[in-house]
Amino acid sequence: DVDVRKVSILGKDSIHCGFHLIPYIVQTVIDTLPSSTYVLVTDTNVGNLHLSAFQAEFDSRKGNARFLPYVIAPGETSKSREGKAEIEDYLLLNKCTRDTVILALGGGVIGDLVGFVAATFMRGVRFVQIPTTLLAMVDSSVGGKTAIDTPHGKNLIGAFWQPEYIFIDAAFLETLPAREFSNGMAEVIKAALRYLRYTGVSRSVLPRIAPIQPTLSSIPDLKAVSLTRVQTAAIWNETEFAALESRAAEIFAAIQTPSVNFAGRTEATRSPAQQLLLSVIAGSIGVKAHIVTIDERETGLRNLVNFGHTIGHAIEAILTPAMLHGECVAVGMILEAEVARQLGVLSQVAVGRLTRCLKAYNLPVSLSDPRITSLPAARSLSVSKLLDIMKIDKKNSGPQKKIVILSRIGATYEPKATVVADKVIAKTLSE
Ligand code: NAD
Ligand code: ZN
Repeated sequence: DVDVRKVSILGKDSIHCGFHLIPYIVQTVIDTLPSSTYVLVTDTNVGNLHLSAFQAEFDSRKGNARFLPYVIAPGETSKSREGKAEIEDYLLLNKCTRDTVILALGGGVIGDLVGFVAATFMRGVRFVQIPTTLLAMVDSSVGGKTAIDTPHGKNLIGAFWQPEYIFIDAAFLETLPAREFSNGMAEVIKAALRYLRYTGVSRSVLPRIAPIQPTLSSIPDLKAVSLTRVQTAAIWNETEFAALESRAAEIFAAIQTPSVNFAGRTEATRSPAQQLLLSVIAGSIGVKAHIVTIDERETGLRNLVNFGHTIGHAIEAILTPAMLHGECVAVGMILEAEVARQLGVLSQVAVGRLTRCLKAYNLPVSLSDPRITSLPAARSLSVSKLLDIMKIDKKNSGPQKKIVILSRIGATYEPKATVVADKVIAKTLSE
């Protein structure tokens, strides 16, 4: 039997995690998503490394079906209207019909773009996410948000479209550049941080909590009212966060040492560090899957995944593409934690703990990091410019800025983002 860890989302066990899963992925797709045509879209970086394995598996298992691989240029610029049209023209030229199943093999760029193609091609066809970056595994492939960029901004045109499966094969991380791995760790740490108190909140209790409870800590018995229906396979706990903090070197080693390929079979072939990596990834996915399940269309709770992102996005707007999203969010998390400290909600000890954890994964934790100050674009980083950019954040209600405020490691001040005065943010940014 193939060793696969399943995580449930929106009531289905559609997230499958393991090592060296390509044969399993192809067999599962063919068995459970019957079609005349399977189209796999990837970029040249991932294609050069991993496409031949998919080609071989499809060749030996597909029977009469067609397998059509399509490789595009890597990078954010492919996530455009032109990039979408190019894939659509390929599908039309090849006479793909409504029964087509599209596989998105790659990072968040491929997932967002191919997901959006799937959402609108023939008014929507089935698709499968096979994320190959850590960021895509724990974040972008989970939740059904698909989008492309326009010259007016990122992710402005898109749709909610859920994949049939999300296959997480941690062995893909062994070819991922270290900087991209750290980039994803920022989101992993974020997920670990602010979720502990939220495990097991059900849809039915949320409306009752939101209006009457100012802080989560005042809900005495969250677990007692939870419904198993919305509970995920992997739930974070303090132990797992502590493992993230203390076992960083081991987790890095796990992706730097090629794992033995026994086609997904037997855990015994994995090192303890690889086991840890898989449980960290599955835990993080469980957090996002859970939030998506109880708040699929981002009405309120799902906003909580935005910890670090209000300030992080503003930094990213100035420093992209030189700095990666996770790097900007890492700085954003520390600055937003500082805001919480300024407000007297979060302790200095907790800020220090978060700082050390991010540093252990080689992430920047302040705007004076040399990786930032050495950039030409860093000269445009001023408090007023950052505040200006934050004005147009989607989470805002009118001109007021909203930040997810931590009350301690593992808990947020409110079950939603909190309105914070400009002068508090300005004070933090100028320190
Ligand atoms: P990416 O897709 O650009 O991948 C990063 C780089 O790594 C690329 O050069 C890629 O070719 C390469 N790569 C990917 N997998 C590899 C592997 N296994 N081995 C070697 N190289 C590999 O970037 P990303 O960080 O994965 O995704 C960023 C995108 O995700 C952004 O467009 C962002 O808007 C989007 N995103 C979407 C959501 C969502 O909810 N939909 C959430 C977060 C981010
Ligand atoms: Zn993010």
